[in-house]
Amino acid sequence: MAHFKVHKSILCMYSDIFRDMFGVPTPADMDMHDGVPMVTLPDDARDVKSFLTCLYTPTLDRKISAEGVDVLSPYWRGLLDMATKYFVEPIREFIIRGLEHQYPTNLEAWCKLDEKRQALCTLWANHCSLDLDECYDSMVPDPATAIRFAKEFNIPSILPAAFYDLSTIDPELDWTTVRAETILKPGHTGGHPYSDETLDEDPLFRGERTARWDTLDQADFRRLMSGCEKLGFLDIQNMIVDAAPRGSCHNFRNPEQCQAARVAGARACQAYQLDGTLRFLRMLERYDPEVKAELFPNLCDFCMGNIRLAASRKIKEVWVELPSVFRLGDELSEWGSVERKVLVDLVY
Ligand SMILES: [Zn+2]
Repeated sequence: MAHFKVHKSILCMYSDIFRDMFGVPTPADMDMHDGVPMVTLPDDARDVKSFLTCLYTPTLDRKISAEGVDVLSPYWRGLLDMATKYFVEPIREFIIRGLEHQYPTNLEAWCKLDEKRQALCTLWANHCSLDLDECYDSMVPDPATAIRFAKEFNIPSILPAAFYDLSTIDPELDWTTVRAETILKPGHTGGHPYSDETLDEDPLFRGERTARWDTLDQADFRRLMSGCEKLGFLDIQNMIVDAAPRGSCHNFRNPEQCQAARVAGARACQAYQLDGTLRFLRMLERYDPEVKAELFPNLCDFCMGNIRLAASRKIKEVWVELPSVFRLGDELSEWGSVERKVLVDLVY
């Protein structure tokens, strides 16, 4: 049996449960250990250790980055389990904030995170490494596990972004199966004997993502399927074609040229949408000159501006609707409040 010698005052400071427990006078026949009263907890010794370490490290948020919260690690799981059971709200809050870094609750934070991830993916693509630990899939958290974790510990705020994230991953690519077959190796440095074809066939080398699909339950699968279907129904092609300016187009001598450019661009954009609706709309909104040259080479700047506006509006609409897209219930009434305000401003 593991023993921890701790201060009543510290436990009482953070937890009402302990405060109540120690509020009653110590009975005369109480078990003693090493000269002090002993309380037996039913919890796992490792979890208790994580919990006490955390309570005794008030600067926790500076010592351990919230972004480092890992739902697969027994440390975080044990810590959250104890914090929930003994009502230690600051620890629970800290862990939830950490998870919200990975699955943002507002669009602005999501966009920043997505840009960071795209940069990470590009870095991997340029690196040509065979190191499994460094591949893109190993660097980003798995949303399927996060969904199970959020359900288990009642953290609904991360569900919309986690479901959206999962909707962008190919269901054929399972974490375990892909890792059993990959040519990447943990900690691999140096060269390799593989042909370009062999490398291209490897999803992890190509920079694709996987999920631990078997952690999802049936209800979550249904939510995901219904969400993917609804996102698929978003008619972005028509959004582009219809983004014609009401007033003047810079191509005023030949506005048909801009109309034809919109139709051609809408057709060509399908390939870009494979990376996810939000990322694609973001790309349109941000006006990347390379994308403009590729998708809308003959479109005037004024018409391009209109497409950017339409995309900007659409991305906010999609974000606000994520809980209903994935049928996540009413627990998320505050969801999208910032974006909803912006949409109202756009209307009036
Ligand atoms: Zn135009």
